[in-house]
Amino acid sequence: MKYTCKYSKRIVALLVLLSSVPTVMGQSAEYVKRVVCELSDEGMYGRSCAHKGDSLAAEYIAGQLREMGVKPLAEGYMQKYLTDLYSVDGECSLSINGRQLKPYDEFRIVPIRTWTGSLWSNSSWQQKSDGIVYMAVKQLSMQVPIKPSADDLLQWYVQVLDSSELFQPRKIEGVMHVNLHRDYVTQNVCGYIEGESDSTVVFTAHYDHLGMMGDKVCFHGAHDNASGVASVLGIAKHYSTMGKKPHYTTVFMLFSGEEAGLQGSKYAVEHPLVDLKKTKLVVNLDLLCGGAEGIMIVNGKGEETQPFVKRMQAFNEKEQLLPEIKLRDNAANSDHWWFSQHCPAIFIYTLGGRYGDYHSPYDTCDKCGIEDSYEKVVRVILNFEF
Ligand SMILES: [Zn+2]
Repeated sequence: MKYTCKYSKRIVALLVLLSSVPTVMGQSAEYVKRVVCELSDEGMYGRSCAHKGDSLAAEYIAGQLREMGVKPLAEGYMQKYLTDLYSVDGECSLSINGRQLKPYDEFRIVPIRTWTGSLWSNSSWQQKSDGIVYMAVKQLSMQVPIKPSADDLLQWYVQVLDSSELFQPRKIEGVMHVNLHRDYVTQNVCGYIEGESDSTVVFTAHYDHLGMMGDKVCFHGAHDNASGVASVLGIAKHYSTMGKKPHYTTVFMLFSGEEAGLQGSKYAVEHPLVDLKKTKLVVNLDLLCGGAEGIMIVNGKGEETQPFVKRMQAFNEKEQLLPEIKLRDNAANSDHWWFSQHCPAIFIYTLGGRYGDYHSPYDTCDKCGIEDSYEKVVRVILNFEF
């Protein structure tokens, strides 16, 4: 394993985007599904620093907002900030006793912070080879972003899925390149539609994901969270084609840096582009591919958020749209968190339905069922208003 600060650049053909104007809801569902597929395409490289996938996704999102006539909240819609990220680039291979293992399915690179004592004691063997510690486990840890911290610099581990044929490793051959991108420039994408009132309602979603594991494994992130971004863009399309101003000034913020610790939304709250004192409600959408069993509203039990949530529930009851609207206490589990310290902010994710495996390369567009539930979910969400 070697550490460098370079990564190869590749010229990426930009997606040619088809435009559509939704006149009926069916076309909106079609539009959001198309956005999910385009954002989770391999050409976005898992929307992290690998091949600057985050910037490709940001440009795509800004292009959509521009086409709808949504006004920018920063130059070119981009609120830029610096962060540190790691990527796993180029060849990523491992063979044990002459057998090539499948990246992700049979081995994963894990940063030290996810390493726990119990996993260590459960590993059937550990071996150091060329400075990399390999260890065999019965179950691989969940893929998490490789996020820099002082500890992470100490050691990387490669988890190998234990199988009897590998029980006694005689020969380990691995090629992996973990690259540090220090002061990496990334961006939140922010726009707004002027309303009758200068009070704001803010719709948010994170567009970043886990990048790549070498040049062959892409973390597509359809459910997490191309689906939330597509839904925010669907809502922007709804307001921009309504033919009249919305009641509140309606703001759209699409964040990067969520996977590596809610960094984009933290920056957005610390460097606000809108007056948070005039913000009536923040609606954060993350994991929207499902919905057959309804939705969960995180921070839906708070005193400040109750009036909005009750209105959504009453509307849902009347219209019989979703089987259930569940409520949870607040938690720092998505981008609503920093906002919730300043103004009413909720986080909505879908329950049940169709979506690919969380934080795996199998979270792909074809497994995403957003077209089944989008219209119902959005009709409920948009009934926050007085
Ligand atoms: Zn995630």
